[in-house]
Amino acid sequence: MRKKKKKKVDYGSMGFHCKHCNYSFEVDWETLWDIQECTHGYVGFNLNDTFISCPRCGEICEYEE
Ligand SMILES: [Zn+2]
Repeated sequence: MRKKKKKKVDYGSMGFHCKHCNYSFEVDWETLWDIQECTHGYVGFNLNDTFISCPRCGEICEYEE
């Protein structure tokens, strides 16, 4: 199986899990950094204060380690 590459650099993604509707999903780092930049103006690999909302129910989710 061949993956189509959109970007030159693939930073990977983080897995998130929504407790509210029991749904797991992934968010790539580029999206996470966009959210961080909007939320607190800086970006990094620390997700302690990064809040991702569930694509299904809109509740805030925690990342999975
Ligand atoms: Zn949810």
